[in-house]
Amino acid sequence: MFGMNELCSVCQKEIQPNEEVWVRMKYPSKRGVTEIKAFLHQEAQFVCMDCFEKTKK
Ligand SMILES: [Zn+2]
Repeated sequence: MFGMNELCSVCQKEIQPNEEVWVRMKYPSKRGVTEIKAFLHQEAQFVCMDCFEKTKK
């Protein structure tokens, strides 16, 4: 998705290319986040749809 190997933060499954994921992240506190990939890598937690469906219940 962002050219990185990301893991589901719940089940640690590797997120596959083009897989639909749910992303939990903090909104940038600073204006002008130029390195969005680095920001996402630090701040974003990916949750695969399987786990997202489980957490909805
Ligand atoms: Zn998962």
